[in-house]
Amino acid sequence: MRRSVSFALASVLASSMLVAGASTAQAAAFPVNPGPVVDGRPITGSGQNLPPIDESTYNVGPYMAPQVEAYYTGKAIQQDRADVALAAWRWVRDWVRANCGSTPEAVRACRATVVFDVDETLLNSYTYSVAQDPQFTFNPTTWNEYVAACDYAGIPQTRDLYNRFIKLGVYVALVSAGSKDNKPFMVKCLREHRIAGWDRYIMRGEASDDLSDAEWKALKRKGLVQKGHRIVASVGDQVSDMSYGHLLHGFLMPNTMYYLH
Ligand SMILES: [Mg+2]
Repeated sequence: MRRSVSFALASVLASSMLVAGASTAQAAAFPVNPGPVVDGRPITGSGQNLPPIDESTYNVGPYMAPQVEAYYTGKAIQQDRADVALAAWRWVRDWVRANCGSTPEAVRACRATVVFDVDETLLNSYTYSVAQDPQFTFNPTTWNEYVAACDYAGIPQTRDLYNRFIKLGVYVALVSAGSKDNKPFMVKCLREHRIAGWDRYIMRGEASDDLSDAEWKALKRKGLVQKGHRIVASVGDQVSDMSYGHLLHGFLMPNTMYYLH
């Protein structure tokens, strides 16, 4: 993950989105259309995500801290996560029944695969962002300390979704733009949060530095498809977790803290 520490413009633009969203907040997962990079690939989400600004990467910054805190400490985010997780479960279950069969062996044999992102999808780093000074900014040093200490909170809705997929028999691939250097810490931390049994866990190394996260993740999904995987769904918290194809359906968990292209 290469989050920018620059946030001033983002804060101003994001504030208008969040304030507008507050009066229309609803607990339901619905179709999301973030633009041409996902043409032809449906995304279901809560709408509680930051908008893309050009092709930048940003953290929302301290200006919006009260609104972000209210969302993360209130009931709305729990309901939004539950709604998106339920939509993902139903979509994958129904696809698998129609295309693979009903036993885990049959599902495995047809190579049905779900891709999960990690940060803000399986693990929640709200306590990191809120503790920074200024709040909701990013600092690589404090970030690495946070990861090494496994100070993440869990996200029960996606943990349960993940474990239901494992039982269903689908292949699970974790595709994360987090640094490969942190992989031992992440593996240990995911296990502490009762997330285990994945088939692949792909993280970013130095060699892929000139690609955006969206391009890099699409390339990794393409690699899985070329190995015979059928990527039924990609579950993430960024549109860049589900851009540029090589998946049937994206499921977008809420993240109002930062945007990654
Ligand atoms: Mg993420």
